[in-house]
Amino acid sequence: MSPQSKMFIGGSWRDAQDGRTFEVRCPADGSHLATVPLAAPADLHAAVEAASNAFQTWSKAPGRERGVLLNRLADLVERDIEIIARLEALEIGRPVAEPRHVDIPSAIATLRYYAGWADKLDGRSLAGPDHFGRPAHSYTTRVPVGVVGAILPWNAPTMIAAWKIAPALTVGCTIVIKPAVEAPLAVLHLARLAEEAGLPAGVLNVVPGHGQDVGNALVQHPGIAKLTFTGSPHVGKEIARKAAELLRPVTLELGGKAPQIIFEDADIESTAFAVSLGIFSNQGEICAAGSRILVHRSIERAFVRSLSAQAEGRVLGNPLDVGTTMGSLISRKQYDTVTGYIDQGLAEGAVLETGGRAPEGPGFFVRPTVFSGVKNDMRIAREEIFGPVAAVIAFDTEEEAIALANDSAYSLSANIWTRDISRGHRVADQVRAGSVWVNGGGTPDPRTVWGGDNMSGIGRELGVAALHSHTVEKAITILL
Ligand code: NAD
Repeated sequence: MSPQSKMFIGGSWRDAQDGRTFEVRCPADGSHLATVPLAAPADLHAAVEAASNAFQTWSKAPGRERGVLLNRLADLVERDIEIIARLEALEIGRPVAEPRHVDIPSAIATLRYYAGWADKLDGRSLAGPDHFGRPAHSYTTRVPVGVVGAILPWNAPTMIAAWKIAPALTVGCTIVIKPAVEAPLAVLHLARLAEEAGLPAGVLNVVPGHGQDVGNALVQHPGIAKLTFTGSPHVGKEIARKAAELLRPVTLELGGKAPQIIFEDADIESTAFAVSLGIFSNQGEICAAGSRILVHRSIERAFVRSLSAQAEGRVLGNPLDVGTTMGSLISRKQYDTVTGYIDQGLAEGAVLETGGRAPEGPGFFVRPTVFSGVKNDMRIAREEIFGPVAAVIAFDTEEEAIALANDSAYSLSANIWTRDISRGHRVADQVRAGSVWVNGGGTPDPRTVWGGDNMSGIGRELGVAALHSHTVEKAITILL
């Protein structure tokens, strides 16, 4: 099936009103994947209008009907899992097994989880006491906010699109999605499936375009009731400033610099394998990448050897080759940023154990990189690199490990590795992070929550929290 080459507005597939297009290319080899309409503010306006019209009926449809359609969409995503995995692998340059076995199953689970909520949203019932001498009964309902504007990053488009689509649609909101220009194809395929599932026209709209024009128009459009943004802290701050001016609620899912805390009782080989997945999957272009590896000094050398062996075992190559375990970074710009950080690490005195630039050739390949002897005040320990670069920092005590973990501008996620269950709980409680995994890691469970504070963002996605952030609670008081 060829990739979708139109945008999806009001249930129809359209070109941009001004006829402009852009090319989507595979970063691993520069091959042409599709030519896609480049949305401009006029297209965005049409999408918001379609979503506003659809909201009138979608928000009033019985929840059960919305749930049936979301489940149908989940079934279709499952049917097309190979197609979507291929599209995502090609447009991002990541090994196809990752979206196939990790991201898209997460997207399906998210759609199903929220489909189950569609007829279960309820409010509170508050009997009495009296109201100025008269008995009263109050109850609350949850009202969908309206049209949601969703802005996506390029690094995990299918999963993050599902995180935004599912809670919004289940409560009765409609949505306008702006995917990143680097990765619109998997998201446009989701729109194709939404159409096939029978979602009414205008409930879901996709307008691929640049952040500075169509993204900015989405943020400021008067028809948008709530914004949900996943991307960099830099753009997140800009969106927050504009949203504040408009008093518009916004959820911001931003960057991370996740600590992986490895205590002396952890099994070195299996932990190094899991930690390598956490930092090298998706070429390290993951918000939750466990990039700060805090290791107890007594096992530091053994752990660094084991992690380096994992790094050296990764096979760089074409995203669709079955043997590939490490793809290309998304762009020349990202390559320059990541290799710039590697140079910076060397300049700051960290020890390069393995990795660095890959030999010249097509694509933007960087070898999985491990630095040891890192201090937490070095830039490679403080700033989000968004690439396959692990910074190993040694610690001596539990208190020091917690202090190092918390000494960061980011707080999205953390991992703890220990066989001492009490220590696992104790440290999890004290680490400042929106999500903590003990002795494991992976994609977030849609029943829990996802999000961080400070440079990692504002608010939470997933779980009941996302149902609440797409609704407002309304109080009704009846004087009896
Ligand atoms: P980015 O901020 O450059 O772009 C994200 C999106 O914002 C894109 O669609 C872009 O077109 C749009 N955009 C850019 N400027 C805009 C503007 N002025 N107004 C409106 N929209 C604008 O981020 P990226 O490079 O695509 O993604 C990488 C970042 O995303 C990393 O920092 C990463 O940690 C973060 N991320 C966070 C999560 C999470 O769940 N917390 C998940 C994935 C990625």
